[in-house]
Amino acid sequence: QSENTPISKLDDLSKTSYPLCMRVMHEHLKSTHHLRNTGRLQYQLFLKGIGVSLEDNIEFWRTELCKNPQLTDDKFSKEYLYQIRYNYGKLGRRVDYRPHGCNKLILDPVGAGEVHGCPYKHWDVDSLTKKLADCKIAPSDIGEITRLSKEGHYILACTKFFESSHKQMPGNMFMHPNAYYAESRKILN
Ligand code: SF4
Repeated sequence: QSENTPISKLDDLSKTSYPLCMRVMHEHLKSTHHLRNTGRLQYQLFLKGIGVSLEDNIEFWRTELCKNPQLTDDKFSKEYLYQIRYNYGKLGRRVDYRPHGCNKLILDPVGAGEVHGCPYKHWDVDSLTKKLADCKIAPSDIGEITRLSKEGHYILACTKFFESSHKQMPGNMFMHPNAYYAESRKILN
């Protein structure tokens, strides 16, 4: 587990050190104040893994979800708080759940209107190309990343994204969004 990460830094970190899967969920949550169940689970656990405390994780979700006028503080407490506490092993089976790895994100089904999972696996080429351009990936690298993802080399596509955005390869190969993040922080911290 990383050192304590304040939630005030998440917007910046999502642009510099998140892998695309987590960046997409962060941006979706920030712009729509909503994230479906599996997305919440995957992103809450990722945040836990980068060192966001239980209290800060609750505060982050409360702030974002309650920007939706239909979601009251009371409804948040009844419907969403349990999942966050559960993920930290504070309720239910009291298991200290670990963030999900790439294989799980790649294999988990993603339904219409859902933004969790691995974008290199689940997104069509046009959407991926547009997103990579939004992330300011060089056009020549966008071509390679979309080619790798089309051929089913999702983690290689993600590694190319890392290389393109950090101007160097990760020190260690990764198969986990939190390992991607850790490699990025080693370079950018
Ligand atoms: Fe996330 Fe792994 Fe896909 Fe990269 S390869 S976007 S870290 S699930």
